[in-house]
Amino acid sequence: MFHYLDGQLHAERVRLSEIAGAAGTPVYVYSSAVFASRFREFTEGLAGIDHLICYAMKANSNQAILRLLLGLGSGFDAVSAGEIERAAAAGAPGGRIVFSGVGKTGTELRQALDTGVRHFNVESEPELAMLSEIAASSGRVAPVAIRVNPDIDAGTHHKISTGKAENKFGVPVSRVREVYRQAAQLPGLRIVGLDMHIGSQITALAPFEAAFRRAAELVAQLRADGHRITRLDVGGGLGISYGDSDAQLPDAGQYCRLLQRTLAHLECEIEIEPGRYIAGPGGVLLTTVLYAKQGEGRRFLIVDAAMNDLHRTAIYGAWHDIQPLRQPRTDADPEEVDIVGPVCESSDTFARGRAMPPTQAGQLLAIRSAGAYGAVMASEYNTRALVPEVLVQDDRFAVVRSRPSIADIIARDIMPDWL
Ligand SMILES: *Cc1c(COP(=O)(O)O)cnc(C)c1O
Repeated sequence: MFHYLDGQLHAERVRLSEIAGAAGTPVYVYSSAVFASRFREFTEGLAGIDHLICYAMKANSNQAILRLLLGLGSGFDAVSAGEIERAAAAGAPGGRIVFSGVGKTGTELRQALDTGVRHFNVESEPELAMLSEIAASSGRVAPVAIRVNPDIDAGTHHKISTGKAENKFGVPVSRVREVYRQAAQLPGLRIVGLDMHIGSQITALAPFEAAFRRAAELVAQLRADGHRITRLDVGGGLGISYGDSDAQLPDAGQYCRLLQRTLAHLECEIEIEPGRYIAGPGGVLLTTVLYAKQGEGRRFLIVDAAMNDLHRTAIYGAWHDIQPLRQPRTDADPEEVDIVGPVCESSDTFARGRAMPPTQAGQLLAIRSAGAYGAVMASEYNTRALVPEVLVQDDRFAVVRSRPSIADIIARDIMPDWL
């Protein structure tokens, strides 16, 4: 629900320039309506089968977002004890939190047992052994699903592909039955299901189809081996359009139909872990143009947001649509510009050779589709304060994370007594 109204870009019914004025820039702004409607696409698509949508909170873990989704019936996929605590702080019961991750520490496993998470997605034999020991030593039984690495090419960026044999994630498909056999013998574990997650920003259904079919085969095999498989967690990964191509991407409805067609007959409780699909389109990063500078044959717009606030372009070469908050005149000739941040790295660039309406210093821009893997990946590089976050609902907005002061940042350093 980001749209021009009376010549001004709005989030729902709130003028974004009003938020920039109140909170300063750079600032992340989220639309409740977008998060809710993207979430509901999955709920509607999965109607009729037993399921739980476990929102991958690493995409955007602001507690206001978690609370909003919780109210819509969401569960959560957490990848650290910190995320489990955060979900709990937002009000999520342990029974709605699954615990994933390739490198859970003993302390994290213990904490997750204390919280009573829904189940652990276990990624290796040593993790199984450690979890069993920790659970058994306190007289508990940990519910587990084992993450299989199905060796499927998700066709996505190599940095966010997770389901190929060469990736560090999960148990190789060739060893899964053996690992389940071992798990069944461990005293502190109770097998409840099977888990997989093949990657992120997947823009075609074919890799999902291959993965789902493999999962269905495995569930049948594991049941034949005598295991009780009542839950099937197929992970997240459905991609979104960042505005760089006209290609029609699969939507949640198509994804859910595929899921219904390939997995409903198993009569498992189906879990999905979408992150980006729900959060990505729901956020923008507002930034102010500090300077417009003419370089040798290039024009630069230097903005007050930087790569440490939104890493995606620097890390993945990601393309983000960038719009002025003031609606450009339709007859204005576009100019080609590089939109860059103030950090001393050439990768601190949001757009290269981008056609933009004529833009002056002082103008405000919105970097679109920044709701996922934006604020959560931000750092304080250059002693820049983490970007605040604002949530809009209809005609109101609230700061849901404040901008820390530089004094707070500096105060975290501790001087050793010999200096
Ligand atoms: C990152 C991750 C997700 C979410 O991926 P999206 O591409 O944001 O949907 C889900 N499950 C696991 C285990 C993950 O690591």
